[in-house]
Amino acid sequence: MQHPIKTYLETLHGELQKISDGKLADYIPELTKACPDSLGICMVTMDGEVYGAGDTDTLFTIQSISKPFVFGAALADRGDDLVGQRVGVEPSGDAFNSISLNPATGTPRNPMINAGAIATTSLVAGATAAEQWSRILQVLSDFAGRALPVDEAVYLSESSTGFRNRAIAWMLKNFNVIDGDPMAALENYFRQCSVQVHCQDLAFMAATLANGGVHPQTGQRALPADHVQRVLSVMATCGMYDYAGSWLYEIGMPAKSGVAGGVIAVLQGRLGVAVYSPPLDSKGNSVRGIEACRRISRDFNLHAFSQNSQPSQALVRVYSGADAPSRRRPGAHLRRLLMEEASRIKYLCLQGYLAVDGAEYIIRRMAAMTVTTHSFILDMHQVEGISDSAARLLNQTRLELMREGIALVFSRIQGRQSIAGPLSRAARGNDRGYLSFEDNDLAVEWCENRLAESLSPAMPPEETPATESVLLRGLEAELQQRLNAICQTRHYSAGEQILRAGDAGDGRVFVIESGQVSVLVPLQGGAHQRIASLGAGLSFGEMALLGAQQRSATVVADTDVRCREFTVTDFEALAAASPRIKIVLLENLSRDLADKLRGATQWIAALA
Ligand code: GLN
Repeated sequence: MQHPIKTYLETLHGELQKISDGKLADYIPELTKACPDSLGICMVTMDGEVYGAGDTDTLFTIQSISKPFVFGAALADRGDDLVGQRVGVEPSGDAFNSISLNPATGTPRNPMINAGAIATTSLVAGATAAEQWSRILQVLSDFAGRALPVDEAVYLSESSTGFRNRAIAWMLKNFNVIDGDPMAALENYFRQCSVQVHCQDLAFMAATLANGGVHPQTGQRALPADHVQRVLSVMATCGMYDYAGSWLYEIGMPAKSGVAGGVIAVLQGRLGVAVYSPPLDSKGNSVRGIEACRRISRDFNLHAFSQNSQPSQALVRVYSGADAPSRRRPGAHLRRLLMEEASRIKYLCLQGYLAVDGAEYIIRRMAAMTVTTHSFILDMHQVEGISDSAARLLNQTRLELMREGIALVFSRIQGRQSIAGPLSRAARGNDRGYLSFEDNDLAVEWCENRLAESLSPAMPPEETPATESVLLRGLEAELQQRLNAICQTRHYSAGEQILRAGDAGDGRVFVIESGQVSVLVPLQGGAHQRIASLGAGLSFGEMALLGAQQRSATVVADTDVRCREFTVTDFEALAAASPRIKIVLLENLSRDLADKLRGATQWIAALA
């Protein structure tokens, strides 16, 4: 199946293509050659999963998006204190190319504007400008997870026209912010801006920041974690130049843009996002890049200050219908089918507040299991709530799976608005909505029925004569006849209550010949928990044979039911004359109890 995140990005891509505002950067002549219609959107998770739409492998120059990474390298090479003496961390509110220093300190205001970035570039480790350059290229490549090339044409174009940046570099020299040759530092800066990337590279670079400095695919550390924290801080406050405040307010992710049209956004511990679209707004930020991030942040609830959870912790446990079958005791045919196939029913036990990243993870785990799955049961018992965006993803997944013949049902969300609300809103439209069950047992039984139907569609309703039932089988013909004489046949219609928990026992024992009943125990507040469903060949009320006085459970007919019944009093009278009847019944009963006990043990083991 296609992951709904990918579908989402494709839809977003289609919508953003309609936006035609903005214009290409032209102060670096070579940048005017970009195709204004190019649009790529890419997302990378902390375990290295990539989702993309559009032109995710179109190459362009990184430009200012190099700044946070080179700042990180300078911190790593020269230490926080020294770098702090040369470059501030205050948002400037100025344009990226402003020719200004902080009058109070005589240093550039922050490493995200050109003045700060050129100073930062001059601070990277290396005895010569060439060594410094290889260090810079190495860091950028480590973040991307591949050796990045340089676009020589863009480099030469900027180097031969970048008079304003030249002025900034000389200003830095004049105020002793740069120690060595300012022109050598400037050339390295031009070169670092001309490093060639595609949208997916940038998404990996963002994801590596999100992942505390370790590349999610190569596993290589590109930067020590405490420097990553510093880099993300300046990206949050200064990354979008004089748009930084509005950006943080609205979109809420540390970010960085470049004049070639790239934008990265980082959701710490969760996601790296990158967009490529060359037309820029008046502040030098990609128009469609900003809009993409705005929508992704809104639709996926990614604002750094909104409620979120650890994605992989959303899934507590996965187990199957073979580990924990329904407590119904199926007839022989169904039992055989289920024995072979029940592992195709999968329970996913979820927890916490489900935001979009948790949903992404769960959906990916489900997608990996589709080949061996007929139904998924999402057990929501430990889920506190679910965001609308996560609910939409799950709903879309449900529809996708349905197309592949796989059911996705929910269990234990009854009366819980924080879950049922978003799920219902997500399912609006012409689709019939999601299926939810009061408990896992009802859910798995539904899945078992569905599985049985798909495996043998025309299964006749099961009929078992009482003489072949679990309780009465094994009696010789003559004894059968005697027992038969004390039995009577009774019919119950669907929905009828046959026994009520707490009632004084009248000593009746019931053997089901056809139909199905549910055995329920009362819970507080009038609700019932179903503990078993019984079909043809099974019995209930048989505890009376062991002397039980009071009915311990309620029994309700699920379908029209036909039973053979006898009373304990009649039975004892019969047994006095033919003790063998009692021996066979008690043997059957103890074998059956042992089976039930085994089943219960299996359930408990699956839940542990
Ligand atoms: N190389 C560009 C410059 O210094 C980078 C600017 C940017 O991407 N905002 O002008």
